[in-house]
Amino acid sequence: MRIAEVFHSIQGEGEFSGTPSVFVRTTGCNLRCWFCDTPYTSWQPEGPRRDWRDVLREVLQFESPHVVLTGGEPLLQPEIVPLSEALRQAGRVVTIETAGTVFLPVAADLMSISPKLSNSMPREASRWRDRHERDRLRPDVVARLIAAAPHQLKFVIDAPADLDEVVEYVRGVPQIAADRVWLMPQGVTAADLASRTEWLAPAAQQLGFRLSPRRHIELFGHTRGT
Ligand code: SF4
Repeated sequence: MRIAEVFHSIQGEGEFSGTPSVFVRTTGCNLRCWFCDTPYTSWQPEGPRRDWRDVLREVLQFESPHVVLTGGEPLLQPEIVPLSEALRQAGRVVTIETAGTVFLPVAADLMSISPKLSNSMPREASRWRDRHERDRLRPDVVARLIAAAPHQLKFVIDAPADLDEVVEYVRGVPQIAADRVWLMPQGVTAADLASRTEWLAPAAQQLGFRLSPRRHIELFGHTRGT
């Protein structure tokens, strides 16, 4: 499997926000969001190929009970299946962070799905822009993922108009309960997040969704390995 980095930090988003965790960041993504905060896994993918057993050994050196398998898109890598199973057998609590466009039969304690809204489109016309638009929404895949594990859905919100898209999306996948939906402000600085949170917090409350912080950005800024 291709790995960008393995590091210990604090989960910044969603249900386990604030929880110390080991992160395994795979490299490679089938999408190209303009706001991608890990371009070294998508636009300019970096990182060596490693055997999943070697990655397992590295993760188990940390004592943290929580492990996050993230990307890029971790579900593009078949070795994530034996890795996630081995981590759970070792007693680790496994979160998988995915955009929900590809399915693999992975073992997870939390399937954290972040479908990409139209606000994620690459801004300049390109082969990637067309591919991104074609592939970014797969409600059929999301339905399979949420049937397989406890789950949460996280949506990156850039502007108030994005909220209608979230409501429409959730309506189209009736298995999604409103209290499993988290709205997160788009931004790569604490100031960006704070200004969007001002209007996003009351909107989330009104819609019955949850508001997610992005603690890693608040604490560490836009820094690799955090
Ligand atoms: S899906 Fe995630 S990793 Fe892929 S381009 Fe979008 S933000 Fe980056």
